[in-house]
Amino acid sequence: MKRREQKTKIREIWQQTFTGLDPEDEWARAARVRSLCPCEYSWTVPLWDIIFAACEDPSPIVREEALHVIQDAHEHGFATAGGMTLLYAARRDPAPGVRRFANDVLKPRPKRPQPRNRIRDRLMQKIAAVDHGD
Ligand SMILES: [Zn+2]
Repeated sequence: MKRREQKTKIREIWQQTFTGLDPEDEWARAARVRSLCPCEYSWTVPLWDIIFAACEDPSPIVREEALHVIQDAHEHGFATAGGMTLLYAARRDPAPGVRRFANDVLKPRPKRPQPRNRIRDRLMQKIAAVDHGD
């Protein structure tokens, strides 16, 4: 796709995403931003202009959703066009909720917490026991 075409396409998606929304309705705007997350919507063009603009939204709810998209894309192995920088910067966001979200997702974790599963735990113990030959 040519650069011009791509720009037009991005503008179209931008309009489709926010058309008909009450400008006062931050929840609706946040939901629309989230609907663009590449885990739910497959991108035919990079939508980072829209997501990065949402990172500057006056509403902290919208900013948080935009950060979620960056984080989720990153976790799914998508290139985020420098979006992770915005996630790091959000640790100094004026809104405490946004700061908490950024700090939380950036917290170093050795592993994603797995829901506890007793059957699987027992199975793993058995496998470990076999491995150790006891
Ligand atoms: Zn997602």
